[in-house]
Amino acid sequence: MPEKASIYLHIPFCRSKCAYCDFPSFAGIEELMEPYTAALAREIDAAAKLQAPTVYIGGGTPSYLPAPLMEALLKKVIGHFYLEEQVEFTIEANPGTASESNFRLWRRNRVNRLSIGVQSFNGRLLKNIGRGHNAADARNTIAAARAAGFDNLSIDLIYGLPGQTLSDLKEDMRTLLGLWPEHASVYQLILEEGTPLEKMVDKGEVSLPDDDETFEMGEAATGALAEAGYGHYEISNYALPGRECRHNTAYWLGKPFLGLGSGAHSFINGRRLANPENVQEYIQLMESKGSASTEIVTDEKARTIDYLLMRLRLINKEISFKEVGDTLSVDFKGHFNIPLTKLQAGGYITLTDSSFRLSNKGIRYLDNIILELSKV
Ligand code: SF4
Repeated sequence: MPEKASIYLHIPFCRSKCAYCDFPSFAGIEELMEPYTAALAREIDAAAKLQAPTVYIGGGTPSYLPAPLMEALLKKVIGHFYLEEQVEFTIEANPGTASESNFRLWRRNRVNRLSIGVQSFNGRLLKNIGRGHNAADARNTIAAARAAGFDNLSIDLIYGLPGQTLSDLKEDMRTLLGLWPEHASVYQLILEEGTPLEKMVDKGEVSLPDDDETFEMGEAATGALAEAGYGHYEISNYALPGRECRHNTAYWLGKPFLGLGSGAHSFINGRRLANPENVQEYIQLMESKGSASTEIVTDEKARTIDYLLMRLRLINKEISFKEVGDTLSVDFKGHFNIPLTKLQAGGYITLTDSSFRLSNKGIRYLDNIILELSKV
């Protein structure tokens, strides 16, 4: 039997760069699309022929890749890896960058799930964050995906946007629920250092909602989704029953995955590997050496914190000390007894002799919990 692992492919191209974005994605380098997909094909050829329960093409904006390049890539993935019969195969699509005919092409090549980066249905807010689409593009893209036969859609929204009010957020939630996607990711905006948005905020050109307003938005989003029957299974993710994202859940559970493309990371055979974020460097390495990855060596503490950072995101699944011990070969309870007791006293977790889980308060303060555990 081939080894089992989820597959991730990174497409680093975007039509324009959003003001808040610090991902390894780039606008204005379309001339690299062809050599990049050739390099990616080379990396796939060199990879082990894994059995894949899930495949995820993310970015960047994968839907910005011209149809013939995407088709060749999809055929390469299908031809090389053993995709399980019930594979979950997702592509990220941004409104205005893919049509019904793109979606039909993808479906013919085993893609069965789309993650659509809407972020907001409010044109004024989309402008404030420099998104390259408007509200009509978002609706049209979702309609095109349904028309092409996709019955597993995820819609991304962001709250805490510059100029956003609680009533704007509630309106976005009503629109989202009216479209009835199978899955929704609702993230809080993080003001990343060095982004154009940070400069705009510093100069007073736009202002962000304060912490209380942002907190209320998060609560309102969760409440609206819960009332509509979506399960809140991860800090920022909600799904109708049985529609949780299997690919991301594999990350959160610490299962093996192979990442291909610039900036992609892998966790395979117990080793962590990373490719360079620079697109040209990635292409050159693939052309000259046939490999672009380097191993990331970490100590036991860093591995434990990394694992918890991901695993704690699955808010409904308690973490047993045996599970952590089996996964990381560490005496978790022995090492972390003091911070765990402290976190329980603060109401952030509920602790038993054999496991712990986040409390409702802990869900909102995950960063503080990780900080406390990191002090050991
Ligand atoms: S589309 Fe996504 S990856 Fe591209 S710049 Fe915007 S936020 Fe970043």
